[in-house]
Amino acid sequence: MRKKVIAGNWKMNKVLADAESFVEATKNNVPSADKVESVVCAPFPYLHALVKKTAGTDLAVAAQNMHYEESGAFTGEVSPVMLKDLGVSYVVLGHSERREYFAETDETVNQKAHAAFNHGITPIVCVGETLEQRESNQTMDLIADQVKKALTGLSEDQVKQTIIAYEPIWAIGTGKTATSEQANEVCTHIRKVVAEAVSSDAAEAVRIQYGGSVKPANVDELLAQSDIDGALVGGASLEADSFLKLVEAG
Ligand code: 13P
Repeated sequence: MRKKVIAGNWKMNKVLADAESFVEATKNNVPSADKVESVVCAPFPYLHALVKKTAGTDLAVAAQNMHYEESGAFTGEVSPVMLKDLGVSYVVLGHSERREYFAETDETVNQKAHAAFNHGITPIVCVGETLEQRESNQTMDLIADQVKKALTGLSEDQVKQTIIAYEPIWAIGTGKTATSEQANEVCTHIRKVVAEAVSSDAAEAVRIQYGGSVKPANVDELLAQSDIDGALVGGASLEADSFLKLVEAG
C-alpha cells in the first residue's frame, strides 16, 4: 500500500510572517507522517526558518526548484548541497511554470533528479500536457516521454522513492480539474511507463500525485482513484485551514 503524499505548492506567494504563521497553525495538526506525508513547498527565502519551525513535527518542507550543480558560478541559483544543509527533504522539479517561463527541459529535470538523490532529497517530478496537446491526442505519448526522460539513469531504488506529479497544464489555476477518471487514466499510464522502463516493482512503489485545481471539495474523489497517491496543490494550499483539510483527506 503506497503512502499518500499531499504537498502544498505555494509558488511565489506569501511574505515571511505569513509563511511562519501558516506553519505554526498546521505543524502540530497534520496527520502522522507514518500515515500521510504532508509537505509545504515554500519559496527559497523561507526554507531555513520553516525547516527550523517544523523540526520534530510531521510537516515536511520542500523547495520549488534547485540547480543540479553542487556549487559554482551560477548567479541566482540554489544548489542541492544548500538545500540539504538546511534540512529540506523534498524538491519540486520540472513544474510546468518552470518549463514554460524558465527554460526547464526534460534533460535538466533529469540532471536535477540525479542531483536530488545524490544529496538525499526526494524529488517531486512534474509532468503534464497542454490543452492543445490533449485535444490533439498527444497526452499519453508526451507524458510517457517526459516520465522516461526524467527517470533516465536512476536506479530502481531511486525510482521507487521518486514522486511523480501529473499536472495537466490546462487544469492549473484554472478551476478546471481533470475529472477523477481523466486524472487516473494518465496516472495509470504513468505507472505502466515506469513498469516498462524500469520494473514492475518500481511501478508498484512509485507514488503519483495529481495536481490542478485540487481543493477540499474534490480531493477525496481524486485520492480514491486506483493510481492517484497524493496531490500537489497550488491555490487551495495557501490557507492553513484548507491545507489541513487536504492532508486529512490523505
Ligand atoms: P492549482 O492547485 O492552483 O491549480 O495549482 C496546481 C499546481 O500547479 C501545483 O503545483
